[in-house]
Amino acid sequence: MTTTATNPLDALVTHLQETALLSTSNNLLDWDQETMMPGGGLEWRARQQALIARMVHERASSLERGDLIAAVESNAKFMAEPQTAALVREAKRDYTKATKLPSSLVEEMAKTSSMAKHEWAEARAASDFKRFAPWLEKLVGLLRAQADCYGVPAGGERWDALADLYEPGCTAKYVAGVFEPLRPRLQKLIADIKSAPRKPADGFNDYFVGIDQQEALSKLVAQSIGFDFNRGRLDRSTHPFCGGTHCNDVRMTTRYNERCVNDALGSTMHESGHGIYEQGLDFSRIGTPLGESVSLGIHESQSRMWENQVGRSRAFWSWLATKLPSTIGADASRFTLDELYGAANVVEPGFIRVEADEATYNLHVMVRFEIERAVIGGSLEVAGIPSVWNKLYKDLLGLEVPDDRRGCLQDIHWSMGAMGYFPTYTLGNLYASQLFEAACEQMPGLVDGFSRGEFAGLKKWLNENIHVHGRRYAPSELVQRVTGKPLSAEPLMRHLEGKLRPLYGI
Ligand code: ZN
Repeated sequence: MTTTATNPLDALVTHLQETALLSTSNNLLDWDQETMMPGGGLEWRARQQALIARMVHERASSLERGDLIAAVESNAKFMAEPQTAALVREAKRDYTKATKLPSSLVEEMAKTSSMAKHEWAEARAASDFKRFAPWLEKLVGLLRAQADCYGVPAGGERWDALADLYEPGCTAKYVAGVFEPLRPRLQKLIADIKSAPRKPADGFNDYFVGIDQQEALSKLVAQSIGFDFNRGRLDRSTHPFCGGTHCNDVRMTTRYNERCVNDALGSTMHESGHGIYEQGLDFSRIGTPLGESVSLGIHESQSRMWENQVGRSRAFWSWLATKLPSTIGADASRFTLDELYGAANVVEPGFIRVEADEATYNLHVMVRFEIERAVIGGSLEVAGIPSVWNKLYKDLLGLEVPDDRRGCLQDIHWSMGAMGYFPTYTLGNLYASQLFEAACEQMPGLVDGFSRGEFAGLKKWLNENIHVHGRRYAPSELVQRVTGKPLSAEPLMRHLEGKLRPLYGI
């Protein structure tokens, strides 16, 4: 053992934190690549990231790490403390996963995905799937190899081994079981909306607002709902994301469309939800599993709650209406509250997932789940993705996809080597609805407060009930603890039906 510390627990924490110092450097390189780096820097950046990924993996799978975990685990005094027991449980889970992957595969994946991300951006701009296909084939090969290293769970499939990285315990069978009953209920609601007797006024969605003004508004909203700009930033990128190195340096991005300020508002509130979660992690535990978010599904519940339950509520818009003239111009005061609220809640099937309304959003996720499950399972070739994608959009959303840019090239995820990730978006919507119902029950008047710009109560509730625990509880356990019930689709359907049926008069 090379680490010198007074006891094995301190030594384990030091080992974990030093590994995190290294791995979070890669997060910063990611952020830089998406926001600042000139294209010429790509090849060197790919080598930087691959080297760091390999070094992180070597530490995370080292004998030293294994010995430290075993030493703490065998000490009854340490393990009697619930936080330590949780830390060891999660450190062991990560260690077991890391030891199953050879360093060469980790390095190859990092290098390939770094290059593939760039190729994806070029292919997307040119709407040319054929350009991206060889890279995606390479990534799929690496992902299959990765899944085989982790091992397919009994009765499961390769996809499960990848999904478990993002949502512990998540399997394709479980996801399909959640999606199947949800799909007809969403399709019925969308069909009713399509033939509704009235539509909300949506003039604000065509209202031209300059990008600098939109940025000022986005920053005001992010700050008002609780994102701390002393410990974070908001920049621009092609694909909005939230990254950074730890709770005191959170880097989020958004993108602006001069013809639709609601796009930037929605994505800023979404990323702010992620950012507020990251900033809410316990700094004294940073670098250990107790200072990390519990799963992508729970992470997404935080972003979707601020974006939808808060950001598309009438109360929120009655507050925001008072801020529009000073940020985006006095002319904005001509929109009534009904028009602003209506514009935020237009339901209309579209091609782009990140621009989708709350009702159609989950259908976009179902398309991706079906495709990646088939690609990883081997029943669909990469070359066949565009035609299957387009067919599913026709079947589920009734749309003819005009080109790959607005079709299967729109998302960055697969280019990053992330498959098994998309369903966490819908799980996040389900968690968000259930958690928000619990917050409203526990804090009467919560939603009314939004109309006065009072968001601190919800942020504090999330800090205390979700963020501060890190990975202490498994996602399902966390939801059960906070809401008193297991995860269910009912709160999401209640939220959607309760808002959209009155708005559309159906
Ligand atoms: Zn998100």
